[in-house]
Amino acid sequence: MVIKAIRGFNDILPSEIEGWQFIEKIAREVFENFGFSEIKIPILEKTELFARSIGETTDIVEKEMYTFQDRSGDSLTLRPEATASMARAYIEHHLYARDPAAKLYFIGPMFRHERPQKGRYRQFYQIDAEIFGVAHPMADAEVMVMLMEFFKRVGLEDVELQINTLGCEECRPRYKKELTQFLAKKVSQLCPDCKRRLETNPLRILDCKVETCREVIGGAPLVMDFVCDRCTGHFERVRGYLKILNAPFVLNPRMVRGLDYYTRTVFEAMSPKLGAQNAVTAGGRYDHLMRDIGGPDIPGIGFAMGIERVVLLVPDKRETARSPYLFIAALGKEAQLRAFELVNQLHLQGIKAEIDYEGRSLKAQMRRANKFNSRYVLIIGEEELKRGRVIMRDMEEKVQEEISLNEAIEEIKGRIY
Ligand code: ATP
Ligand code: MG
Repeated sequence: MVIKAIRGFNDILPSEIEGWQFIEKIAREVFENFGFSEIKIPILEKTELFARSIGETTDIVEKEMYTFQDRSGDSLTLRPEATASMARAYIEHHLYARDPAAKLYFIGPMFRHERPQKGRYRQFYQIDAEIFGVAHPMADAEVMVMLMEFFKRVGLEDVELQINTLGCEECRPRYKKELTQFLAKKVSQLCPDCKRRLETNPLRILDCKVETCREVIGGAPLVMDFVCDRCTGHFERVRGYLKILNAPFVLNPRMVRGLDYYTRTVFEAMSPKLGAQNAVTAGGRYDHLMRDIGGPDIPGIGFAMGIERVVLLVPDKRETARSPYLFIAALGKEAQLRAFELVNQLHLQGIKAEIDYEGRSLKAQMRRANKFNSRYVLIIGEEELKRGRVIMRDMEEKVQEEISLNEAIEEIKGRIY
């Protein structure tokens, strides 16, 4: 039986990789310009880290995490998101010691046991950016502006930024009470999951995708009408700064997030082209996440972008052809050895070149050269080799000439530059 990959786990093949490299390259460029530094975090963490940050009663922690006991009996989890790990690293290595403000980004795979479909996988990649240690609303505006600059740079001008506020620890309980009372009256219309959520985590109901629940939610009170003056003030300033920086946004008073740690500002970047899985990025402020995982009470704000969804949107960005610039066809043992040396010289000098390893006929080697779509073919024949000469064939112009073997490298370089 042929062994296949696990459902929801994808191979990203060489034919698809250019889009990925392009997206990562632009993200690094844009983020570094905004003063962000890259960090790498482990794939596995103690389960507790996610339970305490994302929240015990969220979908991710309740039913989506890949959690298992390792050989020492510790409960470990394949990270379902990066913010908690980045915050853990920031605390663990006292990155706040000299100056609490830190701008970090991370690129890597996440794992969630969800139902696989287009734009939704069990291993998926995220690009994460976080500003730790800044409570000021300028930081909120800055991460969103950076995100939208990324979309602009990858050619996705139609991605829309939606924002909302979720209030803070002080004002959200009031809203939660109001919402619970409202939903309790409509409990019969809620799906079984939401019936349970009404007890455990009523705010989660606002995120339910079931049609009957969505109808109920449509009439629910809005968090915005319950937040305290300080949260309202923060949100007004965020919007003000977005305007100052000319970043268009849309207010979405019904937006909530699937993780419990968010406070105040939340946002999503949506693409009109993606259908059901239309959120390409989600983020927000989490002012007590650090405290909740045992660190100092340091605020933060950031976002996570789903790379697969951006790849689906970005038009084919094949800037550089993958094909080797030059193919060396060799005839006979001696010639093959010279080809082997020559191709290595070219690689060392940064010139993409290929040879044939099998000692095939000239015709077969030319066919390979065609398959690679090489601009030039260098033919090393037994006769020419005796005279220290090789044939350089221009595949585009369909002309060829004899050149000296010793000068071949210089000649090739001359044609490239
Ligand atoms: P969704 O509502 O699409 O499930 P989410 O609210 O779970 O998203 P986050 O956990 O905030 O999203 O993750 C941020 C981004 O990561 C999403 O906007 C999306 O682009 C991407 N993402 C999340 N889950 C998946 C998945 N299972 N497969 C692919 N991409 C995902
Ligand atoms: Mg989700």
